[in-house]
Amino acid sequence: MGTAADLAEALIRQMDEDGPISVAAYMEAANDFYYASHDPFGAKGDFITAPEISQMFGELIGIWVADLCTRAQAEVVHYVELGPGRGTLAADALRAMSVLGRQPDVHFVETSPVLRRLQRERVPGAHWHKDITTLPTDAPLVIIANEFFDALPYRQYIQTYSGWRERMVRHDGEGFVPVPGNEPAEDRVPEHLHHAIAGSIYETSPAGMAVARALAGKIQRQGGAMLVIDYGHEDYAAGDTLQALNAHAYADVFSNPGLNDLTAHVDFTALARTGKLGHVRVHGPVSQSYFLSTMGIAARAAALARHHPERAGEIGAAHHRLVDEEEMGALFKALAMVNTKWPKAAGFELVV
Ligand code: SAH
Repeated sequence: MGTAADLAEALIRQMDEDGPISVAAYMEAANDFYYASHDPFGAKGDFITAPEISQMFGELIGIWVADLCTRAQAEVVHYVELGPGRGTLAADALRAMSVLGRQPDVHFVETSPVLRRLQRERVPGAHWHKDITTLPTDAPLVIIANEFFDALPYRQYIQTYSGWRERMVRHDGEGFVPVPGNEPAEDRVPEHLHHAIAGSIYETSPAGMAVARALAGKIQRQGGAMLVIDYGHEDYAAGDTLQALNAHAYADVFSNPGLNDLTAHVDFTALARTGKLGHVRVHGPVSQSYFLSTMGIAARAAALARHHPERAGEIGAAHHRLVDEEEMGALFKALAMVNTKWPKAAGFELVV
């Protein structure tokens, strides 16, 4: 594989030949290189995710899976994870499931060779897939996606004085810059935004919604469920949420493609609509705080602290970080899609 400079050169060459490329094409090329080239997580990396903050996150998800499969009376299921990162969530979830007597086959959808290697160390018996088309069809799938959909390519549209245009990326000799495309794009933007003020931005993730739609179909055909946790919003209005992270700090989205992590907020309203189009039952979205609290994170934190008094401070801090509204609790949301013949999933309604 080449360097980030090679990627920039290849993009410039492509732009010289074909003109500006979409923000989605830029994001896809940048993120493919980014994830393929290194391990982005942890203190030395660019960002940290919930499973890397505490084992409690993956454990509660393992309990969620085991509880749902037990109540659905599904003996055999496949545990599927989309973009499993370092494999930490899966390792914690599988340990919790095993305590509850479940040892499902494990299927990881992962494109990055570097992360596949780390995942193999954590979960040696897993099967790897480069996309969802090769997932097994012989049994229900219980699918987990934490911070996966935010990394898929997003298209952006911008309102100009001549109407809506897709936002494109060109190279002006000094660097990459976003520019409005030439073609009218009104028909790609929801009607309530047609008269938004100039400069307004509308984002969609056709790639993400296609994956969600296909998985909803599989769940409804084979049985199973999908749990999506990501940062995002409901009731999408307009706004530019595309961001670049490098060494835990914000960077410029259009500088140094391939060296920063590019993500955008997940549109949970669109995700819920996609699930409904796939005829699955949709739970949520609820806040991450609501989901983890309903799943019993407070009791798990207390039990862990009792067993490891020397780590009580660290466990309390992790609990706070995952659920506090000022930290990850409110910005991150959880949504589930469940086969309509399966029971309701836990975590979305308080059962008293
Ligand atoms: N779920 C993990 C990692 C989130 S980062 C965690 O919570 O820590 C995003 C993950 O998705 C990485 O593993 C990345 O390599 C993977 N990924 C990104 N784009 C992908 C794609 N198009 N197909 C499969 N995996 C992808």
